[in-house]
Amino acid sequence: MNRSEIFRARALWLLWAVMLAWGGCRSGDSGQPASSPGPQAAGEEKIRIGLSMDSLRVERWKRDRDLFVAKAGELGAEVLVQNADADPIKQIAQCENLLAQGVDVLVVIPRDGVAAAQIVEAAHRQGVPVLAYDRLIRNCDLDLYISFDNERVGYLQAEYLTRVVPKGRYFLLGGSPSDNNAHLLRRGQMRALEPFIERGEIEIVGDQWCENWDPNIALKHVENALTANQNRIDAIVASNDGTAGGAIAALQAAGLAGKVAVSGQDADLAACQRIAEGTQTMTVYKPLRPLAERAAELAVALARGEPIQTDTTLNNGKKDVPSVLLDPIPVDRNNLYEVVIQDGFHPLEAVYQNVPRDQWPTAAAD
Ligand code: BGC
Repeated sequence: MNRSEIFRARALWLLWAVMLAWGGCRSGDSGQPASSPGPQAAGEEKIRIGLSMDSLRVERWKRDRDLFVAKAGELGAEVLVQNADADPIKQIAQCENLLAQGVDVLVVIPRDGVAAAQIVEAAHRQGVPVLAYDRLIRNCDLDLYISFDNERVGYLQAEYLTRVVPKGRYFLLGGSPSDNNAHLLRRGQMRALEPFIERGEIEIVGDQWCENWDPNIALKHVENALTANQNRIDAIVASNDGTAGGAIAALQAAGLAGKVAVSGQDADLAACQRIAEGTQTMTVYKPLRPLAERAAELAVALARGEPIQTDTTLNNGKKDVPSVLLDPIPVDRNNLYEVVIQDGFHPLEAVYQNVPRDQWPTAAAD
């Protein structure tokens, strides 16, 4: 080979190597296919799902993404994942980009449940159906919604606290105001609290929302509430585990952690540890596998234009959206082991790492 042949051969090799590496590192976060090829009928075009995520900041979302992508792969679909990093404008732009790439269906976890109506409208202009995942998209012709029964999550949170603190001073710590779930939770919480308020047994001493579900904002709200009430707060209805963590940090600083009842949801590892240690009263466990896997099945069915049966509907301000709502499970110290750990959600050693071994659940010690 002369020099120019060697050069050409090297250039070809390099190109081939780059293409191989490119194929090998196509990742879930770049809008590139993230699933492996699954079974597919001969001649059938592979279904492409666009998955648009608000952010990955709260622990659960990586698990949601991975379970969804894996199930879609098994069903022979590929998933293009986008993470808007909590920016509603970026989320709309990313969805437009997914539509431009020709996805067959969009699955959206909206950062802002009102602004995301634009995504549904843009998708429908291209004949692409939209499934709202976990959070509803409001005031639009949304095709389908899958989540847990969020009003029930809120009810379970407050109802549990009323059993621990049937009389006392309550502070309400809401989620992100632009997340429809935050309002459903509050509705469920109030349903549990109202009879106690009417009887004068429970007094609401303050209520706040935490923009973007930010634990630091939760911490500030609880610090301020403690100051305004001379530390006289008996229970905090926190709407998820992240904000419960912020609340508990504020309680800790005031020497009150473990003395004030605090709710949560998600069964985040840190929250399960706090429950085991006694600083958080309860959480609500939402098994993510059935949610993500059912969502992947529904997305494929929507893409194929198959008829979809749902048991219920939820009104989004414009229509009754066909909805699949799964059942949440309340968790405290007594059932932490059998519900969360035995389901494989977190390992026992991680949850109980700060608890002396002789206080670990007996089933686990055997
Ligand atoms: C979800 C919660 C989550 C929160 C913050 C809500 O819409 O239902 O599970 O903790 O968003 O990401």
